[in-house]
Amino acid sequence: MPTVQRTQVGIVGAGPAGLVLSHLLHLHGIESIVLENRSRHYVEERVRAGVLEQNTVDLLNQMGVGDRLKREGLVHHGVELRFNGQGHRIDFRELTGGKGITIYAQAEVLKDLNNARIATGGQVLFEVEDVSVHEMNSSRPKIRYRKDGDECEVQCDFIAGCDGFHAICRPSIPAGVLTEYERAYPFGWLGILAEAPPSSDELIYAYHERGFALLSMRSPHISRLYIQCKPDEDINDWSDEQIWCELRTRLASASGWNLTEGPVQQKGVTGMRSFVVEPMQYGNLFLAGDSAHIVPPTGAKGLNLAITDVQILARGLEQYYAKGKRERLDHYSEICLRRVWKVQRFSWWMTSMLHRFPDDSPFDRRRQLAELDYVTSSRAAAKTLAENYVGLPLDDSLSGAGK
Ligand SMILES: Cc1cc2nc3c(=O)[nH]c(=O)nc-3n(C[C@H](O)[C@H](O)[C@H](O)COP(=O)(O)OP(=O)(O)OC[C@H]3O[C@@H](n4cnc5c(N)ncnc54)[C@H](O)[C@@H]3O)c2cc1C
Repeated sequence: MPTVQRTQVGIVGAGPAGLVLSHLLHLHGIESIVLENRSRHYVEERVRAGVLEQNTVDLLNQMGVGDRLKREGLVHHGVELRFNGQGHRIDFRELTGGKGITIYAQAEVLKDLNNARIATGGQVLFEVEDVSVHEMNSSRPKIRYRKDGDECEVQCDFIAGCDGFHAICRPSIPAGVLTEYERAYPFGWLGILAEAPPSSDELIYAYHERGFALLSMRSPHISRLYIQCKPDEDINDWSDEQIWCELRTRLASASGWNLTEGPVQQKGVTGMRSFVVEPMQYGNLFLAGDSAHIVPPTGAKGLNLAITDVQILARGLEQYYAKGKRERLDHYSEICLRRVWKVQRFSWWMTSMLHRFPDDSPFDRRRQLAELDYVTSSRAAAKTLAENYVGLPLDDSLSGAGK
């Protein structure tokens, strides 16, 4: 017989979605258990996103986990688009009425959240094995797992599938319920984390004949840099010097700007895809974050979108436990998808404008350059980029959700 635990919300995955949800629920007096198959160390050291939208920063502050973020986060009020060797700044502050983004690594967000969960007695179980979800369509769904060789079962009212793209929750939904929308891009990103002070105060997105490049950062001492590469690029084919050489070429500026270089701490290749599953719920199982959707990283949205999903889910669960009403939960998917598709559109648009496509023609390249010229010379176009980049306002009203 398995060891049985009882909670209100069982959460699979201790990434940003799972941990934010767990802590938000705690703040509203709702119990949860988080099950994570990796170790805490692994989760907290994994190099991933680093751009936080204003909404994400505001939420983390409201949740009481923003102290270190306030001290160490780098607030940016613009980005540079660089093409034809010239830089053009998109001024977020001026175009969005004072908004900006904050550079703070996803791994640091996770450390802060884990510390907050532990300090408040939260149950986050790392290194669990063979997680499976059951009876999602009933009022008593269950999550089974093994820990240290013991069979365990979490009995709950709801399950949150926050287990990322290579997940078990989404594939556990019966065939025919979900519709998948997908686009794979014919390129990837080769990314490095380098011990080098960022060579720019703000992110630089570069369009170049040899392909896209991005200069980003994680702290005043650590640069995060990317170059467009083949989707199946073998990282072992690239020496550090070749990567720096490619970055120097693609990021070159007529102004005589120099790229600061330093020891490469970590490097890897990430594939690029757009993916959405509809609906994002089945019975009492709710999918959130990368388990329901993936965006190409060009718009810096994956982490932010995951956090918005669970913000919406938490409000639905709060309504259920405070008032006994399921209205928000029943419309969870519709409310989320309105934002998900807008963010998909923006991420696809940024990706399409800035990357070289293998089969592009001289016409396509002229069109991309014209688009960049337009975005950087028209206030209306720049405003569109800026308001999407800092994050669209969170609309979780039921009015557009069939109500
Ligand atoms: C390699 C990589 C690089 C990225 N780089 C960037 C970037 O540079 N910029 C950017 O904006 N975005 C980036 N992203 C996207 C961003 O990091 C994600 O959108 C974000 O992590 C989504 O959060 P999540 O909580 O939904 O999923 P995740 O962060 O994936 O968390 C899911 C968690 O579930 C756990 N899990 C999985 N399966 C199971 C299971 N069976 N049982 C228990 N636990 C399970 C996983 O270990 C993980 O901890 C990157 C993503 C990846 C994968």
